[in-house]
Amino acid sequence: MDRMIRGISENARFIVADTTEIVREATKIHGCTPGAVAGFGRFLTAGILMGATLKGKDILSLRTDTDGLLGQMLLTVNSNGEIKGYLQNPDAELLAESENKLSTFIGKGSLRVIKDMGLKDPYIGVSEMNYGDIAQDIAYYYYTSEQIPTVISLGVSFDNEGNIAYAGGYMIQILPNAEEDFIGKLENKIAIMRSFTELRRGGMDLERIVGLIYENVEDETTEKIIEPYKILEEKKISYKCNCSRDKMHDGVITIGQKEIEEIIDEKGSLNVECHFCGKNYTFEKIDFQDDFK
Ligand SMILES: [Zn+2]
Repeated sequence: MDRMIRGISENARFIVADTTEIVREATKIHGCTPGAVAGFGRFLTAGILMGATLKGKDILSLRTDTDGLLGQMLLTVNSNGEIKGYLQNPDAELLAESENKLSTFIGKGSLRVIKDMGLKDPYIGVSEMNYGDIAQDIAYYYYTSEQIPTVISLGVSFDNEGNIAYAGGYMIQILPNAEEDFIGKLENKIAIMRSFTELRRGGMDLERIVGLIYENVEDETTEKIIEPYKILEEKKISYKCNCSRDKMHDGVITIGQKEIEEIIDEKGSLNVECHFCGKNYTFEKIDFQDDFK
């Protein structure tokens, strides 16, 4: 099962997650092309990283509205590390070789971040998506909407047969009043690091990747690490849909009695498919006998 770890140092907090199984499961459910996996897999990984500090009944949702080949993407993650997602065009493929494939799939537009923390109104943040890259788009969101300097690395890699080999990434957020010295050292370090999926392929586990991020490359003679850090939590994460017959039923009745009866008269039953997991629910007239009186 996939897992994530998160922790803190004097000047930053970090989250590292392996989302390989989650991305495989999402690919299976939605029938994604490799290009769609590259974009949607990064999006789901970003959701896991952003949702790492959720507590209790908190829920985080992300929604993209862009001109990319994948169309709209949605995800919801809860405090148990359970995530589910949807993308409009899982069968998207490039029509011609383009310079940057990922940005063609993701496109430009807007990102909506919705945090439901059990208060009266959820927090909704909207920011532009200008990079077509998810990682940079989310760093931009954090910087402009929450004033948090953030470094994010996301990746999905494939084996020679085209199957998903590794997926995951990390996010480092600079704490308020962080020392300039630390930010500079961290930036230098990240710039020379290999990608997350390459590190995983090289046999590094999540703990070693954190160690690598904090390893001091500038001055090995004095300090081996940039600053001491502590891992605070390890959590299992998974792709999980919480749909149920009752929830689907509640959704269906919003279209109204007349519409429901017309569909059932015409087709014999009313079929609804869950956008997030593909599960089918079939309803007949008797299922609505207590709803419309
Ligand atoms: Zn479902």
